[in-house]
Amino acid sequence: MTNFNYAFFENKFVDLAEAKVSIMTNALQYGTGVFGGIRGYYNAQRKQILVFRIEDHYKRILSSVNLLGCAFNYTLEELIDIHIQLIKKNAPTCNSYFRPFAYVGNTSLGPNLSGVGLSYALYMIPLEDYMPTNKGLSLMVSSWRRVGDNSIPSRGKFSGAYLNSAFARKEANDNGFDEAIFLNESGYVCEGSAENLFMVRDGVLITPSQSDDILEGITRRTIIELARDLGISVVERTIDRSELYVADEVFLTGTGCQLAWVSAIDRRNVGNGQIGPISEKLRALYFDTVHGKVTKYASWCRVVDVEDGK
Ligand code: PMP
Repeated sequence: MTNFNYAFFENKFVDLAEAKVSIMTNALQYGTGVFGGIRGYYNAQRKQILVFRIEDHYKRILSSVNLLGCAFNYTLEELIDIHIQLIKKNAPTCNSYFRPFAYVGNTSLGPNLSGVGLSYALYMIPLEDYMPTNKGLSLMVSSWRRVGDNSIPSRGKFSGAYLNSAFARKEANDNGFDEAIFLNESGYVCEGSAENLFMVRDGVLITPSQSDDILEGITRRTIIELARDLGISVVERTIDRSELYVADEVFLTGTGCQLAWVSAIDRRNVGNGQIGPISEKLRALYFDTVHGKVTKYASWCRVVDVEDGK
């Protein structure tokens, strides 16, 4: 599927082909940027895009900007407004993924954040599955450690930190695994290269706590709320690596992967190697929720009407 025509770049909507930066751009050289990843689910009958938890995503962008400590000229309302305008301009007729990007757009030498303002861009692409959802994933515990919160704040979504993710993902893929699991510098289970992690033991849903060097995932927060509403007890605590090998169920969550269940870790089956009952229940409820089918969670979906054939 081809990309959409328009992007937001340098304070205006432009053709995607015109949204280009110099090779000298600071963010390109040093990773001095903050980004997001947001999904919009297309409803063909109603010709609508349902953007999932748009406010929470842009709040996280603004928190990450605040962590960087750079000047940024856009408010939450303006960011949401740009997002909705871009949907209207591109008029998608498929599921879409949005990539907001606040970055150091100057071309000066050195990784300097002091006295610097951020540029802003937003583009969107068609996106269905990001990871396979029709089979269990085979994961490996990475030999790379997750960059710690006191090195690059984990709760922010900083471009430069994704080199760490890329190292772990490469190691996993080169060794025939679908994805990596990071341990943090303390040796506890952290997250995937771009997903949060959950395990189930004896009916309890367990996930690393927010002080275990994880990104504050919006899907993670969603799954915790859905699970509690289903009467499943949820515990946020540190997890030993060895606990992964004795877990009944393991799954990853993220805007991209949604809920991807794990069949094996380090070549050991998780449970019986099939999707477990809690993962299955949560996956079904998550998909219904993001498609706006659950009244209780309808406020998480921002409905945007799109004109067909524009
Ligand atoms: N951890 C990392 C490192 C990520 O990049 C992502 C993807 N944004 C996640 C977790 C999942 O976060 P979310 O559910 O907000 O997409």
